[in-house]
Parts: sequence; structure tokens; C-alpha cells
Amino acid sequence: MEFTNQYLKELMDRVVMRNPGEKEFHQAVREVLESLEPVVEIHPEYIEKGVLESIVEPERIIKFRVPWVDDNGKVQVNRGFRVQFNSAIGPYKGGLRFHPSVYEGIIKFLGFEQIFKNSLTGLPIGGGKGGSDFDPKGKSDMEVMRFCQSFMIELSKHIGSYTDIPAGDIGVGSREIGYLFGQYKRSTTRFTGVLTGKGLEYGGSLARTEATGYGLCYFVEAMLNDHGTSFEGKTVVISGSGNVAIYATQKATELGAKVVALSDSDGYIYDKNGIDLSVVKQLKEVERKRIKEYVNFCPDALYFENCKEIWSIKCDIALPCATQNELDKHSALMLVDNGCIAVAEGANMPSTPEAIEVFLKNNILFGPAKAANAGGVATSALEMSQNSIRGYWTFEKVDARLREIMENIYANSSAAAEMYGMKGNLVAGANIAGFLKVANAMLEQGVV
Ligand code: NDP
Repeated sequence: MEFTNQYLKELMDRVVMRNPGEKEFHQAVREVLESLEPVVEIHPEYIEKGVLESIVEPERIIKFRVPWVDDNGKVQVNRGFRVQFNSAIGPYKGGLRFHPSVYEGIIKFLGFEQIFKNSLTGLPIGGGKGGSDFDPKGKSDMEVMRFCQSFMIELSKHIGSYTDIPAGDIGVGSREIGYLFGQYKRSTTRFTGVLTGKGLEYGGSLARTEATGYGLCYFVEAMLNDHGTSFEGKTVVISGSGNVAIYATQKATELGAKVVALSDSDGYIYDKNGIDLSVVKQLKEVERKRIKEYVNFCPDALYFENCKEIWSIKCDIALPCATQNELDKHSALMLVDNGCIAVAEGANMPSTPEAIEVFLKNNILFGPAKAANAGGVATSALEMSQNSIRGYWTFEKVDARLREIMENIYANSSAAAEMYGMKGNLVAGANIAGFLKVANAMLEQGVV
């Protein structure tokens, strides 16, 4: 899509020029600025007062060396990042990603998206993101611990329970959060809720592990209900087999659907009987094995190399839950041709812009990541609340709040799309609804 508003076009050109080579960040900014065209027509003050120029510029970027010693006694050096993007409505909040593909552009795209996602939750959290190009895959527990400790020695200088509260993301699960928390406590002598996704024994919240996947399904159920249908009896394909994919599979199944496929970066499994989640949990959460091992336990299941082809499976609902740009135009066309009615993003930015165009043109119900996967960070904010009151809530209480938050996100995104003349376009609706609260807070706080 071409910009019609000259200011937005020039701003986008400036973002590309000032952040060379960061294509994921450009992609994320472009999508938001495109959605804001009708907003700036009605509210020129966002342009006049410099809000848009400020919102595309991180408040602070921290970049550091992470040296650690591997099991052979050899020194390894990785890069660490924390992008503190926007604190207009609350302290920076967003996950840490450990994956070899991490560079500044990935962290900036994720941090930028996080601003609007966090705003959509209705909770007081700003946007941030961090990570490293460290690959936990194939490393021993001791290597992961030494890396996490070195990473946190530096990061601890910049975070705090009223400043910046990281959490997990790809490659950062409960094991890594435990090591990171231990080192933070040791470095600062402070036992505070500085990280979320903590273990239940030391300040974690019930339902945080499940939250992103469950929240995704609550969002989809609200979207389907609004169109006279539900998960009941539907066939679902989910990519990935990590935290988000596993708990999306669990909730979709509980809501009456049959999930027939999961993947990892090597390939995908297809089980016509419906995925046996106890096998997946054992393989992925306990043994840290590859998804192809699944067929050794479920003989009716098939394994295929090439994870991208997972979208060729006929399904009613597709939930990409692996990584950015994993679902392209070709995959989107396959889904449409096979009669898919709904797609919702558990991963961050998994659909390319061309794929999203295919979905919107073909009236597929499409839930963008900012809205659909906000359940994880929302529940992290509920973990922060519990840490602040030094108390615990029941699973049922947290889960009920999560469901309510996801239903509100759907309703608010849908209403914003309609109000700005794009009924049914939840990409625009989520961007607008998320933006307005942050932009108004920025206006009220002056030039800071
Ligand atoms: P995990 O590390 O638990 O799992 C990631 C899954 O995605 C694995 O199956 C992994 O396979 C696969 N994957 C990763 N990179 C690639 C790649 N380049 N190509 C194909 N598959 C890949 O991460 P999460 O489940 O936590 O996160 C998944 C997505 O959800 C990410 O986009 C994340 O940003 C997003 N998200 C996560 C939240 C959370 O609470 N955890 C909250 C909101 C969004 P392999 O093992 O082969 O690498």
C-alpha cells in the first residue's frame, strides 16, 4: 500500500534512512503508520506536536558484550540488547529473545510492536524488548546458566520493578528466567518482581505459562463468536511447538477443536487423530527434543521436512505461533484455497504484509499479533500486581482476568476499525486502538 499522507510517507522514508538494514523494524513501523492515515486526518495534533516522530524512536538502546565460558573452558562472546522503546503509559515491559538471528533490528521491531500491544491490554505497561544472539539449543544447563549470569550482570544496571521488567520469549523459558532472576538478586541484593514468568516458588503467577496460547484462543473464540461460529468442531493447524504453540493447542482442544499439526524449524508433524499433547510436552518441555520424534510415539502421525509447508494442510483455523515472516503470500493463498476461515497470530509478525493482504482481500477473519498474542504480557502485568501486593491469586482468578482482557482487546480493536471506516480490519483497529492511548499520554506529558 502507498501512503496518501505526505507527512507519513516522509516519516517512513526517514525511518528507513536512519535505521539502515533493519528490515523487520521497517516492516513493523510501516504497518502502523499505514493504519494511522485516517487518524492523523482527524487529529493533526499528533503530527504538529511531534508524537509520531517520537514514537518511532526508542527512548534508549542498550547494547553490551556478553562473555561466558563454555564447558570446554573456551571463552565465548555474544551480544546483548535491551531496547527501552516507550514509557508513556508505564515502565518498559517486554520479553528477552535468545536466538542466533537476533540483532538490533529484530529487537527494535519487537519493542515497537510491544508499545501498542501493551497499550491494548488496558494495563499500565510501556514497551521494551531485549535479547541476545546466543543460541541455547544444544548447550548444557551449566552453559546456559553461565551465559544468563553474564547477560544479567550487565542488564541489571538498567532494569528494575519500576523501570523495566523483562520476561521470556523465543529461547527464554522458565530455566533461563530462573538463572536470570538468581543473578539479578545476587548483583543487587534486591528480591523484587523485576522479571515475569518466574517460577511459582519465587513470585511467579499461576497461568503465566499458559497465558499467550490460552489468550490467543480466547481472542479467536471472541472473533468467531462475533461472526456466529466458534472453535467447536473445527480443524486447526498451529506452527511452532514452543510455549505459545503448546498452550494454544491445549486451549483450542478444550474449546472443541481438533489440532492436527505442529512444527519446529526443521519440519512439521501431521496427526489426523488430533495432536497428543502429553507426548509433545514430554518431548519439548522435558527432554528438549525435536518435533520429528513425535511419530515414534504416535504411529498414525506423519513427519515432513520443510516447516513452511505446514500451511498446505487443509484446516478451518490457522494459528502461526513460531516466528516472524513464517507465513508468506504462497502459504496464505494455500490456506484460502483450502477453505480456511480464520487466521490469528500467536507469534510476533508471523505473516508477511503480502500474506495479510491476501487474508483481508478474501474476508478471512484475521487477528494480528499485537491483539491476538497480548495475553502473555497481560498476565505478566498481573504477575507484577501480585508481586506488588506480595500475594498470590488462584489460577481461576488469573485465567478469568486473561479471558476478559482478550475479549476486550477484540471488542476495542473491532470498534476502532469501524470508527475509522475500516470495519472488520483488525490490523488497522488494533494499531489505532493501541496508538491512541500512548499518543494521548505523550501529548499530556509534553516534549520528553
Ligand atoms: P519458544 O522458544 O518456546 O518456541 C519457539 C518455537 O518456534 C519453536 O518450536 C521453534 O522451533 C520455532 N521457531 C523459532 N524460530 C524459528 C524459525 N526461524 N523458523 C521456524 N520455526 C522457528 O518461543 P515462544 O513459543 O515463546 O514464542 C513463539 C512466538 O510467540 C515468538 O514470535 C514470540 O515472540 C511470540 N510470543 C511469545 C510470547 C510468550 O509469552 N512466550 C508472548 C507473545 C508473543 P526450533 O526449536 O526449531 O527453533
